[in-house]
Amino acid sequence: MNSILVWFRRDLRDNDHTALGEALRRGRRVYCAFVFDREILDRLARAEDRRVEFIRESLVELDLALRARGGAMIVRHGWAGSEIPLLARELRVSAVFVNRDYEPQAKQRDAAVRAALSADGIAFESFKDQAVLDGDEVLTRAGRPYTVFTPYRKAWLKRLTEDDWQPCQSTGGCLAATPGAGGVPSLAAIGFAASDLRSLGFVPGMSGGRQLLAEFQGRMARYRQQRDYPAVKGVSYLSVHLRFGTVSIRQLVARAIAAGALNEGAEGAEGAATWLAELIWRDFYFMILDRFPHVTECAFKPAYDAIAWEQGPQAEQAFAAWTTGCTGYPLVDAAMRQINRTGYMHNRLRMLVASFLTKDLGIDWRQGEAYFACQLNDFDLSANNGGWQWAASTGCDAQPYFRIFNPVTQSERFDPGGRFIRRYLPELAGVPDKFIHAPWRMSWPEQLACGVCIGRDTPPPLVEHDQARLRALQRYAVVKRGEVP
Ligand SMILES: Cc1cc2nc3c(=O)[nH]c(=O)nc-3n(C[C@H](O)[C@H](O)[C@H](O)COP(=O)(O)OP(=O)(O)OC[C@H]3O[C@@H](n4cnc5c(N)ncnc54)[C@H](O)[C@@H]3O)c2cc1C
Repeated sequence: MNSILVWFRRDLRDNDHTALGEALRRGRRVYCAFVFDREILDRLARAEDRRVEFIRESLVELDLALRARGGAMIVRHGWAGSEIPLLARELRVSAVFVNRDYEPQAKQRDAAVRAALSADGIAFESFKDQAVLDGDEVLTRAGRPYTVFTPYRKAWLKRLTEDDWQPCQSTGGCLAATPGAGGVPSLAAIGFAASDLRSLGFVPGMSGGRQLLAEFQGRMARYRQQRDYPAVKGVSYLSVHLRFGTVSIRQLVARAIAAGALNEGAEGAEGAATWLAELIWRDFYFMILDRFPHVTECAFKPAYDAIAWEQGPQAEQAFAAWTTGCTGYPLVDAAMRQINRTGYMHNRLRMLVASFLTKDLGIDWRQGEAYFACQLNDFDLSANNGGWQWAASTGCDAQPYFRIFNPVTQSERFDPGGRFIRRYLPELAGVPDKFIHAPWRMSWPEQLACGVCIGRDTPPPLVEHDQARLRALQRYAVVKRGEVP
């Protein structure tokens, strides 16, 4: 092919990049472009959106990397659906290459771009890059998609070959000189403002991803033991880099495998295998979203759409208490303060607060899902929807609805000394360890002794868990299908 335009979206790197690698292999001149898509950006509520800043800074680094190789990133601000066909025409390319996206709206957008390009005789090709294995590569014997994770994971591991985690060569070839590429616009130029991203310690771009991966490498062997404790630096914190493709998923899989993920019994293998399983969850939810797009609106299992969620002023107040971290359950509140303050929440806590909202407060999982979508730096429709439906027991691989997290015992188990709680709820600093998970159990003299009064310094519990649990069981009874509590 003569010239090819590579359209970058959530794959902001120049190494191990499938569409770029293919373009460099097959095209004589390769252009690179990114569109700050107003279809997405105009819907964001805050000017200081960390994700927009993360993307912009990652683009600056990527542009520099491409310039060092003789190319450049052409950056536009507008509607990608029209900007890309326009640019392809201007550059007179014969094809546009992209890495595949699994979100329904992105698929629609790509179909429209494909049609517009085809009217001009320009080809549109998409490649697997975000996922290690695509949905049609991991099917049941009957040729259907898996709907339960464990058999999917087994089939995924069986299907995996060395080729699937080999880096895609995208460093050779000929990037086209792009004199018209005017660099990356400022945040102000696209209607946004600087956030607290840097002061929170997030380092965008390929360099940020490399740094986190290097640090995590030393912790991977202990991942299995440490991953459930939010006060401990046990997980990788790579999610935002995976979200925007500043690290390659193949590279992460290769690291896990090099650390023994496929060799049971090898030193450190348990940690690596457990981490690899998390990366497989990511593929699983991509596949679910791709194959069952109804999940964006409805329960994965239609029967669960019959659940009557709480509504009205009381439910609105309860939702507000949940979002602001004022439920009176310390670990739930600390978790919500973490997401509000940093845009990140530990996985154990995502499960806990999602269970609390849907089961203890009886509030529709879609409300929690939408709140997370606004707050999370690593917001990803597939994992977020999957996580919420899992916690609400409405999804594929549902935990049975009668298994309801107890917010106090979860707290005792996963934040034993209350270190995480005290980090985000400094008002509870003086509460003795014995009461940190349920401060309302302190007697009045005990409250006076530690200087923390329930109702004054911290709210009383919004609901009584045992009663809330019974209400949840009644609420879910409409979908009883042999799942006997
Ligand atoms: C209610 C709920 C909402 C969630 N929303 C999101 C979201 O919007 N974006 C997101 O990336 N993850 C989401 N997750 C999954 C998980 O909580 C995060 O991926 C993880 O906490 C990110 O931290 P980490 O990078 O340190 O993870 P690690 O433990 O180091 O895991 C490595 C990577 O594996 C992937 N991963 C781990 N767990 C899961 C999972 N359960 N499902 C899918 N992928 C997983 C992520 O890409 C993660 O970065 C959600 C989970 C729940 C329960």
